[in-house]
Amino acid sequence: RRASALAELSGAGKTSDGHAVALLANIGGVEDAVAAGAQDLEGVGLFRTEFVFLSATKAPTVDEQAEIYRGVFAPFEGRRVVVRTLDAGADKPLKFADLGPEENPALGRRGLRLSAERPELLDSQLEALAVAARDTGADVRVMAPMVATAEEAAWFARRVRENGLPKAGVMIEVPGAALRSRDVLTEVDFGSLGTNDLAQYTMAADRMQGALSDLLDPWQPAVLDVVAAACAGAATVDRPMGVCGESAGDPLLALVLVGLGVTSLSMAPSKVPVVRLALSLHTLADCQKLAEAARASRTAVDALTAVRDAAISEL
Ligand code: PEP
Ligand code: MG
Repeated sequence: RRASALAELSGAGKTSDGHAVALLANIGGVEDAVAAGAQDLEGVGLFRTEFVFLSATKAPTVDEQAEIYRGVFAPFEGRRVVVRTLDAGADKPLKFADLGPEENPALGRRGLRLSAERPELLDSQLEALAVAARDTGADVRVMAPMVATAEEAAWFARRVRENGLPKAGVMIEVPGAALRSRDVLTEVDFGSLGTNDLAQYTMAADRMQGALSDLLDPWQPAVLDVVAAACAGAATVDRPMGVCGESAGDPLLALVLVGLGVTSLSMAPSKVPVVRLALSLHTLADCQKLAEAARASRTAVDALTAVRDAAISEL
């Protein structure tokens, strides 16, 4: 009996009533890709490409990049790999993509804003990704960080398609983009909520300051309201919305996110089994009830307590 129960706990993520929720890995380079590729998960939901170049002093060439991307894609033949284009600036400075000091780097020319000022960096990255995607059998999709408007999403999607890459998406990590996700996602194929930055910007609390961790808690009801709005907007234009922030690896919060309408969860690979188990114990309707309980709470602590109690009573 134990063996058959364990067999139930492998393969694609789904709720106990069979609602599919892809379980994906967050990775930062070739080594991570090889390790995650050997695990029972459906692919990569966030490849943080800037991690590969943190110590580079000059911009990598197309060939240098293609070699690295091939190494990342190869373990995922037949599976999806969502690549985030360079998210340079603020907490992830890159020497070759530095636009000089800023008063408020987290609110400055970072992520896609930096790509807009240095389009040659974006184009060489997209070219290398297209080459590596062609050379391997992975289902490669590309998304932009720090998108705030529909115009930015359209600009990015055009460049992705011009490079022959079939699928473009955006991270939803700016509250403005979350609230207008319908318009932003109309321009692209998918969205992925970055709850680390979304919490930072919703609560106006610097994610680099440990002393503010209570405000940065993704259980904050205000953050859940913004996630709910983003998912509702995505549903109206029939676009999938994943989560790739740390919150996706919290098994109780994962249930809430699914209840809010999230269609995939990307996390540290070590978290996948426990999230798969949590999903397998609850129906989609259960998850929706848990999401309501979380949003009906007044504080982050109340939201967690309400969801924990309700999740246990559902078992
Ligand atoms: C996020 O902001 O939630 C995210 C996934 O990206 P990063 O942590 O790399 O900013
Ligand atoms: Mg982010």
